[in-house]
Amino acid sequence: MKRAVVLGGSFAGLLAARVLSDFAEEVVVVEPDLLGEDGDGTGPGAPHRRQLHALLAMGHTRIEDFFPGITREMVAGGARLGRGDEVRFYVDGALKAPVDDVTMLGASRPFIEAHVRRRVMGLGNVRPERATGRGLLLKGGRAVGVRLAAAGATAAEDTDHSEYDVRADLVVDAMGRSSRLGTWLAAEGWGQAPVDRMRVDLGYATARFTRGSELPGTVIAHSTPGPAGDYQPVLCEPGALAAAEDGTWSVVLAGYAGHRPGRDRAEFLARMRRCVAPLREVAERCEMTGEVEPFHFRESRRRRFADLTDFPGGLVVLGDAMATVNPVYGQGLTLAALQASSLHVHLRSGVSPHDPAWGYFRRAAVVVDAAWQLSTTADLAQPHVTGPYPRGYRFLRWAGDRITTASVRDSQVNQTYLDVVHMRAHPRALTGPRVLARTARVLWGS
Ligand SMILES: Cc1cc2nc3c(=O)[nH]c(=O)nc-3n(C[C@H](O)[C@H](O)[C@H](O)COP(=O)(O)OP(=O)(O)OC[C@H]3O[C@@H](n4cnc5c(N)ncnc54)[C@H](O)[C@@H]3O)c2cc1C
Repeated sequence: MKRAVVLGGSFAGLLAARVLSDFAEEVVVVEPDLLGEDGDGTGPGAPHRRQLHALLAMGHTRIEDFFPGITREMVAGGARLGRGDEVRFYVDGALKAPVDDVTMLGASRPFIEAHVRRRVMGLGNVRPERATGRGLLLKGGRAVGVRLAAAGATAAEDTDHSEYDVRADLVVDAMGRSSRLGTWLAAEGWGQAPVDRMRVDLGYATARFTRGSELPGTVIAHSTPGPAGDYQPVLCEPGALAAAEDGTWSVVLAGYAGHRPGRDRAEFLARMRRCVAPLREVAERCEMTGEVEPFHFRESRRRRFADLTDFPGGLVVLGDAMATVNPVYGQGLTLAALQASSLHVHLRSGVSPHDPAWGYFRRAAVVVDAAWQLSTTADLAQPHVTGPYPRGYRFLRWAGDRITTASVRDSQVNQTYLDVVHMRAHPRALTGPRVLARTARVLWGS
């Protein structure tokens, strides 16, 4: 390809640019927010960046594959690498059985993203363009470029004077949840991808705390309600903490519907005191720095591009623009990384970028399906979440409850459970005969 254009310079856009740099003479990353050397990485285009983000094991592996040595760089910059029991998972207030094979990074999302951005922008053929995507240029059944507006021009401004066109062999939509690709395509007579939605009405709130000598053996702690409390915060509040690169603790609390956390500092601390030991200890011994930042996530949503029968060539979609799932499972960054890998495999197969990218969309659908299945099946345990129900839900729920209970007591079950949660294994691994048999032995003896 002579030129590829990526709309959106956040996590998914950066990973797409990394992949495309192997296949195009020039890759242009279009982003209106100031995210580079001069920006703090927390522009208005993606305000959720300020929430605690966990990078799952599969996402971490992929990013190290794309950028060899990046973990070492992040650790040198202050991130902590949590291994073994430095990473603690609790269900219904009980610490889960230890597993050796889990490593997680203690670092903020802007820090991880800044490292990825530096590596991407250091590639000789990638350049940033500070602008906003306003539309697609379509010709002969394929995307041939994009219409941009200089940064600073808002989406509401109708004036043409700041608009200009950039031609491309391949256009990537990585514009996140607010992508307007569907509207742009509909305006040109193209059909819209079918959309699945699940309303979850999740509240999130993140705060930072000073970090001292408390919790010397902890990098990450994660607590979630489970079957013993019917997935409600009765035995323990849901929340997590992670050591951040700047010597602070980042703490997130979550709650659904009428139990969403707000901005109030005293209420935040009171909830932390009803959480697992590491969060209680930080509430008691550390000082909150700055404000509590809340975020309201209304619904999980995925667009099923692979189900379309007609789609323009020269156009792909990555990241939240394709699928955005309940963030409590921490899948978004890893999903973007797996979609980027799917794009790499697709382009490496020698297809023309000018053709509809069915091979990519089909591969990406496999990982999106897996993430969707895991998160929506778990979300249906909440009484205010009313569907849609997947086929076999009653069995999945029954088995899921038992496997979760067994994972507290048994390292082998917990290892498979974590492999699925960390997207190293497909959710179907949990209902395979070996795991079910082991679960039965753990719960009911042989
Ligand atoms: C509260 C919360 C907590 C989360 N926690 C986790 C977690 O722990 N772990 C995890 O893996 N994931 C988590 N996620 C999900 C993760 O944040 C997203 O999956 C991820 O940000 C998706 O990246 P993206 O690049 O697709 O989209 P975004 O990060 O949303 O970025 C979209 C980008 O597109 C740009 N843009 C928009 N319109 C245009 C346009 N017209 N032209 C050009 N550019 C445009 C925006 O400025 C922005 O930079 C969380 C999400 C939320 C909401």
